[in-house]
Amino acid sequence: MKRLLLAGGGHAHVHVLQDAAREAIAGATVTLVTPFPRQMYSGMLPGWVAGHYQVGQIVIPLPALAQAARVQFIEGRIAALDAARRVATLADGREIGYDLLSLDTGPVMNRDAIPGAREHALFLRPVEHFVTLFEQVLDRAARKPLDVGVVGGGAGGVEIALALAWRLHRLGTGARVALVAGADGPLSGFCPAVRARAIAALKARRVTVLPFDAAEIGPGFVRLDNGTRVACDVPLLAIGTSAPPWLRHSGLALDERGFVQTGPTLQSLSHPEVFAAGDVATRQDAPHPKSGVHAVRAGPPLALNLRRAVGVGELQPHVPQPRTLYLLATGTKHAIASWGRWSAAGRWVWWWKDHIDRGFIRRYGGSA
Ligand SMILES: Cc1cc2nc3c(=O)[nH]c(=O)nc-3n(C[C@H](O)[C@H](O)[C@H](O)COP(=O)(O)OP(=O)(O)OC[C@H]3O[C@@H](n4cnc5c(N)ncnc54)[C@H](O)[C@@H]3O)c2cc1C
Repeated sequence: MKRLLLAGGGHAHVHVLQDAAREAIAGATVTLVTPFPRQMYSGMLPGWVAGHYQVGQIVIPLPALAQAARVQFIEGRIAALDAARRVATLADGREIGYDLLSLDTGPVMNRDAIPGAREHALFLRPVEHFVTLFEQVLDRAARKPLDVGVVGGGAGGVEIALALAWRLHRLGTGARVALVAGADGPLSGFCPAVRARAIAALKARRVTVLPFDAAEIGPGFVRLDNGTRVACDVPLLAIGTSAPPWLRHSGLALDERGFVQTGPTLQSLSHPEVFAAGDVATRQDAPHPKSGVHAVRAGPPLALNLRRAVGVGELQPHVPQPRTLYLLATGTKHAIASWGRWSAAGRWVWWWKDHIDRGFIRRYGGSA
């Protein structure tokens, strides 16, 4: 029997588990190691912040999925990996050997990217921690007018700022929300029509857009890179993500930012017994190598290739899509759709997004 270790309960691995529940992976004993017994679906996180979903509706329960797949579930966090010895070490010191390893652990946020952030800011990742801390923010916001500053002008930052503004303004305690969006402003990587729609939505939700980077975060303030100190009780960091530091000494081939370099079959370029998908991986041959290997889309080819790597059969290439469809929630039950240079917005886009998102959760045993 080969030992297959699934590291991380991410969006690609939930598909691997569901596939194994349908038909066991013959010839393998499979173990899933992941720090939380549920997987938060980040696509629905802004909807949860806005108050449109209960937390139970945006999660996939992992132990049940693992049990159905006859996969051993270990609640733990990988802290080190030795690809030469084929051993993963957990944060509590346990060692797990493997013959085949699949990584879907997602990215991390660099807590030292902005001075003072580690001590004073709230981070979007790990999402589980954010969810707990956000409940405390709501409690505080119900008692006094809060200044909230979302740092990061990408899709996640814009969606969270809009969701927060909608939720906090309804409390009626006079909360103010600002978006520290960087010099290029919100959604700089998107086409002009999408940006214009997002800027209109931010204006409608009374989010103050600050076109600067955050240079420092301290108690009660964010200092911008033009020197301005902005009052901020809750700095919320939605900045870009980084590679997990434990990959650095793993011996795996990594790109210049520290993510696992994979080829078309989702195998590591240096260690073919290691597969990687989602934001922890990059594809050098992909149209946008820096954007990771889209975890949801990589699920089916990863499941197939793991099954074949254990048994027999030629591994199949995963063909990344040249364009990604983005459905961005705008706080109320409205959303913006973006596909290349095409865009649209309205209630119907929210319904479309809501339908897709709930379908994703239900497919993997959640109760959206
Ligand atoms: C607000 C927001 C909205 C977003 N909306 C969208 C969207 O609509 N569409 C979209 O495509 N992307 C969206 N994204 C981006 C999306 O979150 C990521 O691209 C996606 O989560 C990547 O999936 P993943 O499986 O690689 O990682 P993750 O979803 O992060 O899953 C990683 C898993 O590994 C576990 N794990 C972490 N560290 C370890 C460890 N050391 N050992 C073991 N297990 C570990 C985690 O607990 C988790 O279960 C959004 C992001 C944010 C912040």
